[in-house]
Amino acid sequence: MSGAPSDAERRRAVKPVICYPVETLPQPDMALYARAREGLTKTGEVIVPPRDAATFKVPAGHFFRITSIEGPQVGDLNLWNARDLSERFYSGKTRALHGTHLTTGERMWSSFPGMRPMATITHDTLDWYGVDAFGGSVHDVIGTRCDPYTHNLLSGGQYHHCCHSNLTRAMAKHLGVSVHEAEAHVHDVLNVFMCTGFTRDTGQYFMKASPVRPGDFIEFFAEIDLLGALSACPGGDCSAEHSSDAARCYPLLVEVFAPREGALAGWSPPPLNGYDRCHGT
Ligand SMILES: [Zn+2]
Repeated sequence: MSGAPSDAERRRAVKPVICYPVETLPQPDMALYARAREGLTKTGEVIVPPRDAATFKVPAGHFFRITSIEGPQVGDLNLWNARDLSERFYSGKTRALHGTHLTTGERMWSSFPGMRPMATITHDTLDWYGVDAFGGSVHDVIGTRCDPYTHNLLSGGQYHHCCHSNLTRAMAKHLGVSVHEAEAHVHDVLNVFMCTGFTRDTGQYFMKASPVRPGDFIEFFAEIDLLGALSACPGGDCSAEHSSDAARCYPLLVEVFAPREGALAGWSPPPLNGYDRCHGT
């Protein structure tokens, strides 16, 4: 351990600045989305079984909703541009822009070079939760997804129903390819309904029982044509374990809705990012 310099306190007292002030980000027209939410028509649904995953498609300009239906359950969400799977959800940059947890009005951003909004959160019945006394909050972009590799390192053994494997199987089935090929498409998730934070003393990633209850939902507006995959985490409400069959797990419901005819007049999908990709050459 290095000794602290004489001006240590002065250096620590320097005030932080926000890395990415979002005031200049293209803002979603939440009033337009609110009007479009009135008179939605359901066009499809999929039930995600416990300890498994399912895929779904959402056309640009439609809404999709993830609902807790039988008991407290956390979901791990992946999104891709349905027309180009190389453009996919970028958890790290979304975190840098919006912070560790997402709620209404915030967006899921796509990977380079597209880097544009893929989906905008239009309703969140857990928005009342805020930040608890432990620093915990809901719907995080901190955790990557539970996976059998980390499980093997920490505990040994072969567990096949982590979210990473569930998403891999669902994508293999959807694309008609091997699990090894499908695995390359799986990426860091939005942890829907999961309650997480960092411990104040050691800065470690923590989870606690999700406050979600049947009937709670989070709803998104699809900014581009989307392919989604959702895993019902083997951790259930993630109060204790997340890489075993020990936790009680429940299904999750995904529903897709079309807005009323003409409700999105004036709206168009966001263009690809404006950087020219010269990189100084
Ligand atoms: Zn999981």
